[in-house]
Amino acid sequence: LDVPIHEAVLGQAAAFGDTVALVDGTNGLTVTYAQLDTFHRRIAAALTEAGLRKGDVLALHSPNTIAYPAVFYGATRAGAAVTTVHPLATAEEFAKQLADSGAHWIVTVSPLLDVAREAAALAGCVREIFVCDQAEGHTSVLDMLGSTAPEPQVDIDPAEDVAALPYSSGTTGAPKGVMLTHRSIATNLEQLRPFIPMGPGDTILAVLPFFHIYGLTALMNAPLRCGATVVVLPRFDLAQFLDAIEKHRISGLYVAPPIVLALAKHPSVGEYDLSSLQYIVSAAAPLDAGLATACSTRLGLPPVRQAYGMTELSPGTHVVPLSEDNPPPGAVGKLLPNTEMRIVALDDPGKDAGTGTDGEVLIRGPQVMKGYLGRPEATAEMIDADGWVHTGDIGRVDEDGWLFVVDRVKELIKYKGYQVAPAELEALLLGHERIADAAVIGVYDADGNEVPKAFLVRGPGGAELTAQDVMAYVAERVSPYKKIRQAEFIEAVPRAASGKILRRELRDREKTATPDEESSA
Ligand code: ATP
Ligand code: MG
Repeated sequence: LDVPIHEAVLGQAAAFGDTVALVDGTNGLTVTYAQLDTFHRRIAAALTEAGLRKGDVLALHSPNTIAYPAVFYGATRAGAAVTTVHPLATAEEFAKQLADSGAHWIVTVSPLLDVAREAAALAGCVREIFVCDQAEGHTSVLDMLGSTAPEPQVDIDPAEDVAALPYSSGTTGAPKGVMLTHRSIATNLEQLRPFIPMGPGDTILAVLPFFHIYGLTALMNAPLRCGATVVVLPRFDLAQFLDAIEKHRISGLYVAPPIVLALAKHPSVGEYDLSSLQYIVSAAAPLDAGLATACSTRLGLPPVRQAYGMTELSPGTHVVPLSEDNPPPGAVGKLLPNTEMRIVALDDPGKDAGTGTDGEVLIRGPQVMKGYLGRPEATAEMIDADGWVHTGDIGRVDEDGWLFVVDRVKELIKYKGYQVAPAELEALLLGHERIADAAVIGVYDADGNEVPKAFLVRGPGGAELTAQDVMAYVAERVSPYKKIRQAEFIEAVPRAASGKILRRELRDREKTATPDEESSA
């Protein structure tokens, strides 16, 4: 266990030999395990020759490609901490991450080169930009594959040295650099292993981004360390996604709720042969039990399994074991081994909430991050003196130890002293057959009360649907204090690449909205 992450993942790679490790879902190009092993060693050698030293930060700025893992593990083998960057980041956003992390090196792809150059110029700390493909004036990773430089012998301390420096999604505030050591990531993989049975012969579809900790873990580290084949897609496009499942006979899906939604509701799903699928796992955001059932029933699969975690926890703490035939609907999972959980009362963090009662989820275990880079106060706010991580999520645990996550503490809408969870209302709205997608936030009405407002996307047959119809639909199904008091139709719900609703964008939109765009009750 106490080995660097590239060893933990690729220790068996040479033995898997000609087994295909990665397939480019757009053009069919492949990388075998033997190649992945060789390639990442050559990249480590070439980066070292270029001047990279242990402890340097390398920014990996790329959509999912078959080169991504070789660059990631090559960089860690050379001793770097890899900060993964959103491929759609603006130059300003990217520059902030570069400056905050003090990155000296960037690996990008030619279509993103202009953004990378601009970001590097703004940040001022970058020494060299490499490209995975080809671009004039930049060393290519392809050239590195032919490197004859000696493999670096870097002394890595798995418990102390940072392997990955992902930035938290920034859903609730500014993104922070999360220091994950080789040990915290490798330990979490080990904790997850018994519950996520991947192995040679399994084909996994990497449609969620590698740059986010969920994709990095479930779609890169976990499958590659056990000889599975990973089919790589650069982004989620429903037709391309369904086509890839059919063509590559995908066995397991690791997705986020918006994809479950599409699988449950989109008319085109029936046009594909998805019979190779054996299971679906969803994580990263609340998933409604009804939606999960609609999806698994439609596809003739066992119940959609959930997992729960966060960047700061490397990332997993709970999973619904695939071996469990009848997990309770809505459960995000059971606690992983060697991990502790407390659920503390929302009004008194010193007290346990008790079985079946909502409270804040606290976690302690070996997967806890080392801290936020350069932010001791934020770190202390997140990890208390006893080592408990305060997740900011509201959950409850039942007698059998199943965890149910309600929503985030910060997202609760306080309506006249009552607390309303947006996720519950969103789930209800998604159950409406003429609503394709929905998001709920708290807004202030004319009297200064915080009230739930729904943003709705029309689904098939939804052209005539009015805000009043929808508010009445919800009012019939919830206690009066949870009623939706405002509703507005929009083109699409803004979401992060990890699938989370970007409520802050809806709030911004709200600030600039003109009153006649809305309907109130
Ligand atoms: P930031 O911390 O920067 O605001 P973020 O919290 O969205 O961003 P992540 O670390 O990607 O960044 O997400 C972790 C969060 O995702 C958890 O705290 C929780 O709110 C949510 N989450 C993850 N899995 C689930 C799940 N199965 N059900 C409900 N929520 C989940
Ligand atoms: Mg968070």
